[in-house]
Formats: sequence, structure tokens, C-alpha cells
Amino acid sequence: MLSSEAISIIVIGGLVLLFLGVFLLYMKTYVLREQKSKLEELVAKRTVELEAANAQLETLVRNDPLTGVMNRRGFDEKFEEEWRRATRYGAFISILMIDVDYFKNYNDTLGHQAGDRALKMIAAALSKLFKRAGEIVARYGGEEFVILMPGVTLGETIEAAERARLQVEELKLSHPSSEAAAVVTVSIGHSIGLPGKENSKTALISAADKALYKAKVNGRNRVEGEKTPG
Ligand code: GH3
Ligand code: MG
Ligand code: MG
Repeated sequence: MLSSEAISIIVIGGLVLLFLGVFLLYMKTYVLREQKSKLEELVAKRTVELEAANAQLETLVRNDPLTGVMNRRGFDEKFEEEWRRATRYGAFISILMIDVDYFKNYNDTLGHQAGDRALKMIAAALSKLFKRAGEIVARYGGEEFVILMPGVTLGETIEAAERARLQVEELKLSHPSSEAAAVVTVSIGHSIGLPGKENSKTALISAADKALYKAKVNGRNRVEGEKTPG
């Protein structure tokens, strides 16, 4: 038979052990909870950083680093969006294809860096002109820019093209080796079309390209248009 003293010791010892066990369990849970919340914090921070990096990447992928306007890829995506919108609303889409005149000569005479500066200024001048909702200014390639205008008439397209041509001329960038003028000028081809059966995006771009070629052949520093099938 155990004495009452021994029983007390066993009970107290048991209680102490139980308490220690509970205490250790509590401490472990506490540490784990702390680690979990730190991990969650880190994940949230990394997610924000990743989102910012992704947004930056998106901009890089769609923008031209030299001029800051959209690049060809960005344009193609926006063009598709605007095309769908215009199809829904039965609205016209106008394209201006813009090419700098005698730009090879400009680089050869004044240097490639001066050429880069001129491209930047032309892009900025065009961006100032075409700011309405849905309007797009993009660098289509080398020294070529493209502008999209939704919902305008043929008359408004021609007026806008003429304004763009004048705006570049007004930059008054001296071009000693141009055969078109004493300053940097552009040739512009325009096309307009109603998205539909006959009119594809490609046809609209081709027509503007053809018109641009006409502007070059007819002496440069001018605006020409070309009809689309529809
Ligand atoms: P045209 O009037 O017939 O358009 O003559 P052009 O000399 O402008 O045409 P061409 O296609 O012969 O030359 C285009 C020039 O554009 C050649 C190329 O070096 C220059 N170019 C293209 N991209 C850039 C660029 O990013 N920076 C600079 N500085 N020049 C560029
Ligand atoms: Mg060109
Ligand atoms: Mg050119």
C-alpha cells in the first residue's frame, strides 16, 4: 500500500509533467504560428514585387524603348481590340502610315545619334496630336510610325494626316541632305475602312502602305490616300 505522502508526490509529479507537456505544446504552437505568419508576410511581399516586375515587363514588351511610344507588337494587339470594337459599333477605322523622308541621308550627314533624337521628337509630336480615346500612335519599324483613329470620316482622316505632316515640319529639324525640304519631313499614306466581310486589318494596312508609296513617288513630304475593298 502506498502512503498518502507517496500518492501526493505521484499526483504532484504527474501534474507537473502534464503542465510541462502542455507548456511545451503551447510553445511549439506559438513558434509554428510565428513562422507561418512570417512566411505569409514574405509571400505577400514577393507577390507584390512579382506583380510590379510583371507590369514592368508588360510595358517593355509593348513599348519602344527609344521613343516611348507603343511598338509593333503593342500596336497589333490594340489594333485587334479597336477592330473588334469598331465591328460591334459599325464604326470606321483609319490608318496613317508615316515614314521619315531621306532618313538614311540624315543619319549619314548628322550621325545616328542625331537620327535617334529626331525619331524621339517626331514620336513626341505625333503623340501630342493623337490623344483621343482609341487613338494609337506606334513605331511600326525603323523610321516608320503608324497611327490608328477609330470613328472618323475620310475628310477627318485627311485633315489629321495633314496636321501630322505639318507638326513634323514645324519641328524645324534641319536636314541638309534631304531632297524634299530643308528640314525633316514625313510622307504619309492613309486608308479608311469599315471592318467587315471585304475589309480585313491586313487590307487596311496594305492600302495605307500603298498610299505611302504613292506619297514617296509623288515627291515626299505629302499625304496620299488609297481605297480599301469595302
Ligand atoms: P525614303 O525617303 O525613301 O523613306 O528614304 P529613307 O532614306 O528614309 O529610307 P531608307 O529605307 O533607305 O532608310 C531608312 C533609314 O532609317 C536607314 C536606317 O539607318 C534608319 N533608321 C532606322 N531605324 C533607326 C533608328 O532607330 N535610329 C536611327 N538613327 N536611324 C534609324
Ligand atoms: Mg522606311
Ligand atoms: Mg524613310
